[in-house]
Amino acid sequence: IAKKNGGSCFNYFTPALQEAALQRRSLIKELRSAIQTNQFVLHFQPIVEMVSGRIHKAEALVRWNHPERGILGPVEFIPVTEETGLIIELGEWIFKEAVRWTKCWTERRSGEFQVSINISPLQLKKEDHQKGNEWLAHLDEIGLSGTRVVLEITEGLLMGENAKIADKLRRYRAAGIQMAVDDFGTGYSSLSYLKKLDIDYLKIDKSFVSNLATDTNDRAISTAIIVMAHKVGLKVIAEGVETVEQRDFLIAAGCDYCQGYLYSRPVPPEQFERLLDQDVVNV
Ligand code: C2E
Ligand code: MG
Ligand code: MG
Ligand code: MG
Repeated sequence: IAKKNGGSCFNYFTPALQEAALQRRSLIKELRSAIQTNQFVLHFQPIVEMVSGRIHKAEALVRWNHPERGILGPVEFIPVTEETGLIIELGEWIFKEAVRWTKCWTERRSGEFQVSINISPLQLKKEDHQKGNEWLAHLDEIGLSGTRVVLEITEGLLMGENAKIADKLRRYRAAGIQMAVDDFGTGYSSLSYLKKLDIDYLKIDKSFVSNLATDTNDRAISTAIIVMAHKVGLKVIAEGVETVEQRDFLIAAGCDYCQGYLYSRPVPPEQFERLLDQDVVNV
């Protein structure tokens, strides 16, 4: 494929690049068939309410059960599904699978359980207005209230003045669906969207949490996020909590919810069910 250009010495495709391009192409092909043959699984990570230690929320995190390579994490394939648009189809499956389990667990917990689903910008940007209605229609169909669902979106998505997206989000909210801003503080941080759009949760990115024990800047930033969020009526979820020190700092700072390996890694549904039945996690 490398083009030998007459007199030019440029060889745009080095062997390494060529190899990468080939790998990418075969990954795309594999992903297409993985979607057709349903090779994906959702794992669930508990989101723990800090004051009570109770689990009544979880984040759904997708994994690819690859026939040869084993379980692959989303960083290995979500970017490619976003670049190729395959995320639309995969995202439909993720949504349906997440709410299917949520329906079970909501009944188990007399209505208390709530699931958090990561949504790629493309899924909301899609012109097709039908899509939004389909999710609501699907919830209707399985008899699950929108209040059981949180959509995790990123700051970037909220930044642009996209009337169609704002409109879609409003429609979801009207059905009781809540919104969380994921990886808060890592995107373009204009805070104006916080008052323009109805949001329910800010998720403090784990990059601020990991050094809470020692880094005074991270402590200041996390505290400021929590104070600001509460002042505008939002709840805060800290992600990537791995140590007791981090948890204790976050409790003292008034953080509402925590999620991280300290409590549990993301686990398959059957295993999550056992955590749910315990009701409280002690660490
Ligand atoms: P995210 O939404 O910020 O998810 C949190 C990530 O942090 C997850 O990685 C989770 O396993 C990991 N994590 C949780 N607790 C800890 C901890 O204590 N320490 C550390 N070091 N990591 C922790 P995961 O599952 O690999 O997902 C990575 C990213 O992939 C997610 O980041 C999200 O942006 C994306 N993603 C995952 N599932 C989906 C999905 O269903 N749809 C879409 N569109 N994106 C997804
Ligand atoms: Mg997330
Ligand atoms: Mg996150
Ligand atoms: Mg994150």
